[in-house]
Amino acid sequence: MTPALPQVIGRYAPSPTGDLHVGNLRTALLAWLSAHSTDGELRLRIDDLDPIAATRGSEERQRADLARIGLTFDGLEIRQSERLERYRVAIGELAAADLVYPCFCSRREIREAASAPHAHLPDGAYPGTCRDLSTLEAQQRAEGRPAALRVRAEGATISFSDRNFGAQRFVVDDFVVQRNDGVPAYNLATVLDDDDQGVTEVVRGADLLAGTARHTWLRRALRLSDVTHAHVPLVRNREGDRLAKRDGAVTLTDLSDLNISPTRVRASMAESIGLAAPGENPSMSELLDRYRHEDVPTSDTMWDSAEELR
Ligand code: GLU
Repeated sequence: MTPALPQVIGRYAPSPTGDLHVGNLRTALLAWLSAHSTDGELRLRIDDLDPIAATRGSEERQRADLARIGLTFDGLEIRQSERLERYRVAIGELAAADLVYPCFCSRREIREAASAPHAHLPDGAYPGTCRDLSTLEAQQRAEGRPAALRVRAEGATISFSDRNFGAQRFVVDDFVVQRNDGVPAYNLATVLDDDDQGVTEVVRGADLLAGTARHTWLRRALRLSDVTHAHVPLVRNREGDRLAKRDGAVTLTDLSDLNISPTRVRASMAESIGLAAPGENPSMSELLDRYRHEDVPTSDTMWDSAEELR
């Protein structure tokens, strides 16, 4: 008898800092289809770490919009703002292993330092200015501004395999795990949350591929379980930039105002990933029947105008 495969647990983790647009919703749809195509579950996480930008109003509207396109969530839900202690414990573990250090650099200092070429670091990477400060130097710098905490990744090369985009290899710089206002950084929170939610597969936008190398570095440093990664293509505006609220009618509410229903929006998202024919409105179970991991496209889609959906 073949042993049963462990259950797939996916997640969708929106930041409640505004309404979801069709690009966000399409990623959520793909995460749902991916998990459910293997009889798995999809969990919801509220990435509300930013105390200023994240609001309960946005969260409620995002939940409502996800439901309006037919997405359901199972099992344990996590709200990042309630888990600060968990993040502090992990930072303590990294500190005990000498894997973090305080960084006093301002944004400007980082920009200037990062613009000089650094042997094998990618453009814009933090070059390690504060990595080897003496205690005295650190004390002097601390008088000027509070410290962020950075990991000692020291330009490690991290390889991982992505289910859609194949073999990946990135150099990881000393990224921030705690901002200088004391708020834990997304990169830290996301790996701990995935682990605590029992996540086995992460489906998210391809703009986060390089971020995944950082997460892989952290997961190894904290001895967390590996997950499957499946990045999905983005929806872009006519200029080729990642879709954003300023690109016109791009949220379900905007589109409803133009008499375009959530079902019609879902059909258009499905069409853009090869799961529906033009003009067709497949149900969630029809989409699930058609979905195959291997057929998920890797090229981005251009969002022209809501008018095309009428
Ligand atoms: N809250 C993040 C975002 O909306 C989540 C990214 C992720 O899926 O890890 O971009």
